Amino acid sequence: MNKKNNRVFNFSAGPSMLPLDVMEDIAAELTDYQGCGQSVMEMSHRSAEFEKIIEDAEKNLREIMNIPDNYKVIYVQGGGTLQFAMVPLNLFKSSKKADYILTGAWAKKAAEEAKKFGDVKITASSELDNFVYIPQVMKEEFRSDADYVHITLNNTIYGTKFPYIPETGDIPLVADMSSCILSEEIDVTKFGIIYAGAQKNIGPAGVTIVIIREDLLGNAPKEIPTYLDYKIHADNGSMYNTPPCFGIYVAGEVFKKIKATGGVRALEKINKEKAKMLYDYIDQSSLYSCPVAERDRSLMNVVFITGDKDLDKKFTAESKSAGLINLAGHRSIGGMRASIYNAMPKEGVEKLMDFMKNFETENK
Ligand SMILES: *Cc1c(COP(=O)(O)O)cnc(C)c1O
Repeated sequence: MNKKNNRVFNFSAGPSMLPLDVMEDIAAELTDYQGCGQSVMEMSHRSAEFEKIIEDAEKNLREIMNIPDNYKVIYVQGGGTLQFAMVPLNLFKSSKKADYILTGAWAKKAAEEAKKFGDVKITASSELDNFVYIPQVMKEEFRSDADYVHITLNNTIYGTKFPYIPETGDIPLVADMSSCILSEEIDVTKFGIIYAGAQKNIGPAGVTIVIIREDLLGNAPKEIPTYLDYKIHADNGSMYNTPPCFGIYVAGEVFKKIKATGGVRALEKINKEKAKMLYDYIDQSSLYSCPVAERDRSLMNVVFITGDKDLDKKFTAESKSAGLINLAGHRSIGGMRASIYNAMPKEGVEKLMDFMKNFETENK
């Protein structure tokens, strides 16, 4: 039996689809990694084999994201959520002030966490409009003595994305890129810290990538738990303790594939095509609509509604039977959401659109 025939198109917001060919290569060497007689799952993280895996992963990530030498790449556990705490713990140093732009539920969680450790100001928020747009913020609106500014570049639940990178001058800009890392080209030098849980665009849950400018290391107070100090991870090549070895290996295989297939630029082109197909169809449809301001629409999470809650339910139930799974919107907002991360093939979006068209005809 061809296992590929059993595969569904998974529109989950995360964990989400991974490239099939990468998973098949991993499956082929699952119990015997490159002839060393053991699985990466069983391997010492101090072994020569794993040293090479983690080094290659970093080398390839640096290449595909064009990460300058004055940035460290570290792998930690705890997901995007632990970064909500690690960022303030490491960056509050002089004023203990941080400015946050509230663009969704994750941004809000990040700000709430930071409030435990210092003075957090919400510079701008689109909460009163259900986060359907991204506020435009000017440099002058940030407190000049803030230790950092935090944004959530792509808002997974509401289907928005910053169409611009806020200008912060000398204040380090921190970005949660959990749901958009590697989806389009970005200029790393505009950020002090970029962090992303792996389970949306990179690999399995359990590994979180932090890209941090070197001058931001070493400011954490001595009394914080050792694991929460970025410098510990940077100084030890993410091997202060046992890293999430298997997740790093899978991430590394994904980076390798990206590098071999035209880099992030090629992914960006396909992602834009996939998203445009879907938004164009939704915009001309008489059944579906997208509540998000056009300029702020996410390439990764496409949110849409029929305007009728029962019909939305029918949609998610019937699409599931058609092999298009996890199309229900986040439990907090309802409607539908198609997460079309890097690994979602164009074919999946086409199948979804075919289904939507039929559903529209049948439910006029
Ligand atoms: C999924 C997500 C998170 C939370 O990630 P965890 O790994 O579950 O902690 C944080 N921020 C954004 C933007 C996300 O999409």
